[in-house]
Amino acid sequence: EREAWHQLAQSTEKFNEVDLDTVLAEAVKRAGELFSADEVDVEINLPTQPPRITRGSTEAIRYDGPPECAPTAPGNVICSPLESHDGSADVGELRLRFRRQISLSEREQYTLRTFAAALCTAVRNAAAFAEAQRLSANHAYAAAHDPLTGLANRRRLFAFGEELLDDRSAKGLTGLLLIDLNHFKEINDTLGHTAGDKVLAEVALRLAEASQEGDLVSRLGGDEFAVLFVGLAAPALAVPRARAVLGALDQPIEIDGMRIGVEASAGVALAQGPGGMQELLRRADVAMYQAKREGQVVAVYAPARDTANTTRLALSADLSRAVAERQFTVSFQPVVDLGTAEIISAEALARWHHPAQGDLNPDLFIDAVERSGLLPAFSQAVLDQSLRAAATWRAAGFNLPVAVNVSPRSVLDPTFPEIVAQRLAHSEVPAEALVIELTESLTLSQLEVVDEVLRSLRDLGVRLALDDFGTGYSSLATLARVPVHELKIDRAFVGKMADPTEAAVVRSTIDLGRGLGLLVVAEGVENEEQRRQLWELGCPAGQGHLFARPMPLNRLLATLRRGYDGRPGVLAPPLHDTGSVIRLPNRRTTQYRQGELG
Ligand code: C2E
Ligand code: CA
Ligand code: CA
Repeated sequence: EREAWHQLAQSTEKFNEVDLDTVLAEAVKRAGELFSADEVDVEINLPTQPPRITRGSTEAIRYDGPPECAPTAPGNVICSPLESHDGSADVGELRLRFRRQISLSEREQYTLRTFAAALCTAVRNAAAFAEAQRLSANHAYAAAHDPLTGLANRRRLFAFGEELLDDRSAKGLTGLLLIDLNHFKEINDTLGHTAGDKVLAEVALRLAEASQEGDLVSRLGGDEFAVLFVGLAAPALAVPRARAVLGALDQPIEIDGMRIGVEASAGVALAQGPGGMQELLRRADVAMYQAKREGQVVAVYAPARDTANTTRLALSADLSRAVAERQFTVSFQPVVDLGTAEIISAEALARWHHPAQGDLNPDLFIDAVERSGLLPAFSQAVLDQSLRAAATWRAAGFNLPVAVNVSPRSVLDPTFPEIVAQRLAHSEVPAEALVIELTESLTLSQLEVVDEVLRSLRDLGVRLALDDFGTGYSSLATLARVPVHELKIDRAFVGKMADPTEAAVVRSTIDLGRGLGLLVVAEGVENEEQRRQLWELGCPAGQGHLFARPMPLNRLLATLRRGYDGRPGVLAPPLHDTGSVIRLPNRRTTQYRQGELG
């Protein structure tokens, strides 16, 4: 008797398992042993599991699957419901099959019921465990995915990304492409949310198809998507990979018979330095906004254009050290005669050679300089370097003026003309060879002190230019009030000149400038098309990447000397075919030269 109970206890203990398959297989084997049955069926019927029969002997499982597919089994059968002792739960049936005729003793019947009850409990436990696992997997999926598109969500992107960034054995570089759809709100507003959702789902599908295996495509929310590039072999590969993904959006999306073109702006950044995913995403975001501002499809993160860096700079002691240690320098960008490509002056553009952040452009630090109280020191450094540079190229035989940008704050400072006079006196450069570029601003158009400062500068013989013309406050009012010699058309207008309305703005600015006898200079001339168009509209001068980018003094000198096609001081071919060079109509360039040479 004791032996029998012991056996029973051992058998039931064996199927105290969490895995349902193991429980069923153990049950078949143990029941076979315990009751010397030739074959055992465990049939289960659970709400959370498909109905199933597991059949076998002490040696092996012979069938495991849906009851309707189980082969008919011969033999004498003894059944026991799989129910708890109190009969409350019924999860199926245990069947013992014998080749011979059999009847169970009372003790054996009791053993069978006990065995069945223990099996019932084990099955229920295992099923509950499986169900809990399924739910938690579902839950984990929902927590990591966007329900609309099925893409990974922000949380998953971060979890996956952080793990990758922490993994020292990971091969290659990690990059993040952040994509924001343009005009998505309009789609939503005009076509409705259902159409909007369909667009998002289609975008998701296309991005997923266009990305490489191993990359993680996610939707961050709204119309923002991100692709985590994994294992980039070189930084230079990030942009082609980004373009490949974005190319998926070139074809219009068809929704309910309508063809909708989707445009996107994207930024790409590489994981570098500390800050993890948070910093990587922030950088991609900075690049994305840069792309939006400049109308590009994709821009790469550039530390020099990250204003978060500037804010940090402004707060640090960097600025005063920069002045003391002469970290500010100037680059020079040639201004040319649009017709002949002859260099007619050079604009000084400040640069900060920051010891840690590399070269920074003025957009990033001018604000900080102005707020720091270091503006006078900074302006003087720029002015001095510019005048010294002008003296150098004049000594080399190039009588070109230098144009220096002046902060609106400086023209509020009554001592500013005095400083300019001093610096000029210290240099060998005549006042007419200095152009001071003023940005249109509220101060310029309204304050009395400004009039005085400008009059003094003019009296010194310095030329004044109105910079960024057209972007500031009531341009015409400023022009009527401020006695300038030059107008600089802002590069924003030049960049959009292919559009007839913008071209009309440029044309009227040129006409206005010429009417007032001013030299008109176009900024941001980036291609021949713009050069020709400006020339045809009557604009005599320009600067921009088409001709030259800003460069250090020694490079400018070399450029001047080398010239183009054997002609020093020239940067490019003339607008008109060689052999038939058209001499400039007098009023176009001579005005400038008169001040300078005449
Ligand atoms: P800005 O006076 O309008 O200077 C022209 C800017 O256009 C320069 O940017 C130049 O690099 C850029 N540029 C030139 N050609 C092209 C082109 O073809 N395409 C495009 N997209 N851009 C072109 P930079 O050097 O970053 O200067 C930005 C601004 O910072 C200047 O605009 C000027 O307002 C200010 N700035 C520069 N140097 C000084 C300075 O010494 N003092 C003060 N107060 N402001 C300065
Ligand atoms: Ca300027
Ligand atoms: Ca400008």
